[in-house]
Amino acid sequence: MEDCIFCKIVKGELPSHKVYEDNKFMAFLDIYPKSKGHTLIIPKKHFRWVHDVEPFGEYWQVARKIARAQEKGLSAKWTQYFTHGLIPHAHIHMKPRYEDVQGASMLPDEHLSFSKEEFEVIAAKIRKAF
Ligand SMILES: [Zn+2]
Repeated sequence: MEDCIFCKIVKGELPSHKVYEDNKFMAFLDIYPKSKGHTLIIPKKHFRWVHDVEPFGEYWQVARKIARAQEKGLSAKWTQYFTHGLIPHAHIHMKPRYEDVQGASMLPDEHLSFSKEEFEVIAAKIRKAF
């Protein structure tokens, strides 16, 4: 879809810190991360909503692979998933969490900032953990 920021990332017209790619899906670090390793998973084909994505089961199997890689590569304790659809190309937010789940807050976290080099180190740690 023209003028879609995520379609441009898929086509390589915009840069991303890629953590995963196969023939149907791609995952990269959120540039406005709310935790270290905050990743977005998108279908390469443009779908508006997460529940529109086909094949839906495969989409979530990729999410599981990424959660395991975040746990292993970044020593995350668990992963928080969320979807909200503010960017009109389906994406699942996967936010690695480093605190115990019992004490976790459901309130929004502050944005973190990382340099380009720090983003690349984080992405590489996830990529190596598959
Ligand atoms: Zn798109």
